[in-house]
Amino acid sequence: MKIDSNTPVENGPCDRCGFKFNGNYTISDFGQVTCGYYDVTGPYGWSMYADEGEKIVCEDCMWVDPRYIAVYGIMSTSYIICK
Ligand SMILES: [Zn+2]
Repeated sequence: MKIDSNTPVENGPCDRCGFKFNGNYTISDFGQVTCGYYDVTGPYGWSMYADEGEKIVCEDCMWVDPRYIAVYGIMSTSYIICK
């Protein structure tokens, strides 16, 4: 996975599965955009998919969460290249 060295990187671990992941985030016109994980503490609506005490949830965990699937459908769990 290639990550722009100028981009801040979050390396986990995921609060749900405990595994480390490679992700990053950028600030866009829409606010913070994360890749590889979800910040479930921010004001972006992801907290409704978090269990108590979770702050960061990786994509693989989020995409199998029944609450997430109910809204967004089933996502591929294949790796996304974060750029
Ligand atoms: Zn996880």
